[in-house]
Amino acid sequence: MNVVIVGAQWGDEGKGKVVDLYSSKAEYIVRYQGGNNAGHTLVVNGKKTVLHLIPSGILHPGKICLIANGVVFDPTVFFQEVDSLVASDALHGPAHEAIRVSDRAHVILPYHRMLDKCREEKTSQTKIGTTVRGIGPAYEDKVTRRGIRVGDLLRPEILKLKLTQAVEEKNCLFEHHFGTPKVELAPIYEECLKLGERLKPFVADVSQILIQALKHKRPVLFEGAQGTLLDIDHGTYPFVTSSNTVAGGALTGSGVGLGAATQAIGITKAYTTRVGVGPFPTEIEVTEKETAEKIRKIGAEFGATTGRARRVGWLDLVALKYAVEVNGLTGLALTKADVLRGFDFVKVCTAYSLGGTTIYEMPSRSEDLARIEPFYEVLPGWHEYDTNSVQGVEDLPVELQTYMKFIENFVGIPIILLSTGPGREETLQLQDPFSL
Ligand code: GDP
Repeated sequence: MNVVIVGAQWGDEGKGKVVDLYSSKAEYIVRYQGGNNAGHTLVVNGKKTVLHLIPSGILHPGKICLIANGVVFDPTVFFQEVDSLVASDALHGPAHEAIRVSDRAHVILPYHRMLDKCREEKTSQTKIGTTVRGIGPAYEDKVTRRGIRVGDLLRPEILKLKLTQAVEEKNCLFEHHFGTPKVELAPIYEECLKLGERLKPFVADVSQILIQALKHKRPVLFEGAQGTLLDIDHGTYPFVTSSNTVAGGALTGSGVGLGAATQAIGITKAYTTRVGVGPFPTEIEVTEKETAEKIRKIGAEFGATTGRARRVGWLDLVALKYAVEVNGLTGLALTKADVLRGFDFVKVCTAYSLGGTTIYEMPSRSEDLARIEPFYEVLPGWHEYDTNSVQGVEDLPVELQTYMKFIENFVGIPIILLSTGPGREETLQLQDPFSL
């Protein structure tokens, strides 16, 4: 009855489209981790909307979109997004009636963005390839208990005290460690007060809203951001994001108990992409350069948040099986199957070779993952077909049916949705996760 959506790869799997589709069945749509480093693209009636912070259910009338405690929240970006939705007439009523922001969510402040930039540009440590939006530093402050929460923006005295301490510490780093200009307390404080004032009607105890919703058996959709392999604990550390992207994060990130989520649906492309640095076993940028470029071009594989070209590779079933296990996935949504149309063959990775030994599990160390040689199974490609004539799996080209069966058999769960284009209508829904 309640569904968690997670990316089953390194992000950009098409979660936005799937969340938008499933939102029609839910009453509450919840963002529970990450921040505006996400970029979910929705295409409705040919019109494109990119959301970074507001849940992708916002385009449906009558839904409550919740930004929960696990999110790191940039109020400036939030209002830019609200203003742009209002300007494009995408909302169905006043924004504060459709959106609630947790008073426990941590706030991203200007010094977090600066720190992110310094860490990426000025340290001798490995570059992670972050979006430089201050997400990691805001989570750092949360964990070291120096964070400023949304609720603090509404309490000027507490805010001033906390900001004074934070600015003092950050300035020490800027001045003595990074050698960059310091930040001024007064303008940050004034801006926070203004943002807090505007934020007031949106602020709520999101956990309580959800607890009541669940008590009354209202359908809830939890919208994950990034992807499983970017999880801070279970991803390809240190080339990961700073939050728990796996399905378990939905519970801690929104303040609901075990059992709140009954289905976990993983979104995977029919191939794999990765943005930024870090190991990527099935990458074909060097080995099959032309194919990589073809997939990137047809699939428009450029980041929604940063515009960066995504690295491309074949579908990695070892990694996908890991995602099934670590999230407890109950179904898969397979996206971008249209991008591989017209290929003579497609490859899927079914095992890894590590130092001459064949392994079937993802190693925990990034250094090992970077040394891996993938073993591929080659399957026949599928031709163009008219999506409008497809009512069920049996109407799909037989090669695509074979591809889907191969994936299902390997990972042990069903594909419940097939996406063959960015639009809502370019979708074959095989099972409804809300009635599983
Ligand atoms: P997300 O962060 O997981 O929501 O993914 P992004 O929005 O960053 O990237 C997915 C991109 O693929 C967006 O531009 C979508 O509009 C697009 N998309 C989603 N599903 C499909 C599909 O099945 N086929 C094609 N060609 N594009 C798709």
